[in-house]
Amino acid sequence: MRHLDSERMQSSEPDGFEAGRPGDGAAGSGREPPRSMLEWTKEEMEQWCVASGFPPFHGPQILRWIHERLVTSFGEMTDLPTALRERLEGEEIISTGDVIREERAADSTRKLLIRYVDGQSVECVLIPEASRITACISTQVGCAVRCVFCASGLEGVKRNLTAGEIVEQVLALKRKLGPKEKITNLVFMGMGEPLHNVSNLLRSIEILRAPWGANLGARRITVSTSGPPGRIPRLTEAGVPVHLAVSLHAPYDDLRRKLIPGKTSPVADLIAESKEFFRKTGRRVTFEVALIDGLNCERDHARSMGKRLKGFPCLVNLIPMNPVEGVALRPPSTSAVLAYRKELESHGVEVAIRMRKGDKIAAACGQLRMRTDVARQGGG
Ligand code: SF4
Repeated sequence: MRHLDSERMQSSEPDGFEAGRPGDGAAGSGREPPRSMLEWTKEEMEQWCVASGFPPFHGPQILRWIHERLVTSFGEMTDLPTALRERLEGEEIISTGDVIREERAADSTRKLLIRYVDGQSVECVLIPEASRITACISTQVGCAVRCVFCASGLEGVKRNLTAGEIVEQVLALKRKLGPKEKITNLVFMGMGEPLHNVSNLLRSIEILRAPWGANLGARRITVSTSGPPGRIPRLTEAGVPVHLAVSLHAPYDDLRRKLIPGKTSPVADLIAESKEFFRKTGRRVTFEVALIDGLNCERDHARSMGKRLKGFPCLVNLIPMNPVEGVALRPPSTSAVLAYRKELESHGVEVAIRMRKGDKIAAACGQLRMRTDVARQGGG
């Protein structure tokens, strides 16, 4: 069982992964996971066709088979010449992982566990709500940030996902939809710190935004981050007008360090970086506050948070924490959550309370993977 004890508070900073260069998808694993066609753009697909002696118009055909018709083998691409299919089968791969477990909650939330060819696995979740269907996907195997309320960081980080492995989760979730359903929103809130894997994150967003890909507008994509030093400015520089959600959790650095042991920017810097993101992209920033009973939901915390954010046109999401197996922390009472909201609102800050979805299927990030790994090892 995990406790927020003194040993934990003094734990040394976990390693993050330097990202931002080609090939960083395998950081930490000791071996490069295979690259699949899922991370190819239309231009790259056309160039490959030409270099392989085929007309470029086959490029968009291949993309349609992969991203629209959701096939997993070249043999199914029946309108391609046989010679091209054979060439593809001999040289390239589409998929690098398999869905090895699926769970469905009473509220229709679905969670998939995908295992990649090197044996590492991640989770992705489909969350239907009123008129939208949100896909929540992972960017790393495990997480170096090790937030105290999260199962993903319990064992640290194993490696970054490639852009193809990130895209693969969306395709796996699309295969679970009915004929008239479609993913309307995408959140990078699964396993991992997305900004520890920036280049593969940005590459996957490029693919998922493309008309031939998932065709998701940047405004429907949310990147959630704990704010590793220098990484929000990097996202700002990239100029992709995604929605930015910053996990703040506490108004003071000392308390925040206890909740988020990984290396992140001080609260004042995070707010300044968020303001710059807003100034450059015009996208309103959301601050996430996971509320944990007895730790960060006193009136004083809410008052300090309100003072820090006063005057900045942001949104604060209050999220009573998901109970997590192996973590001895609990969500606060409803009255404590409402009191926190009232205090923030008295400073003119807009607030939403986010309800948990899929509790019964271990929808807090990392739980399904953890449970499956334990079962595989014969531990339960
Ligand atoms: S909440 Fe996010 S950043 Fe924190 S440990 Fe979990 S996956 Fe990592």
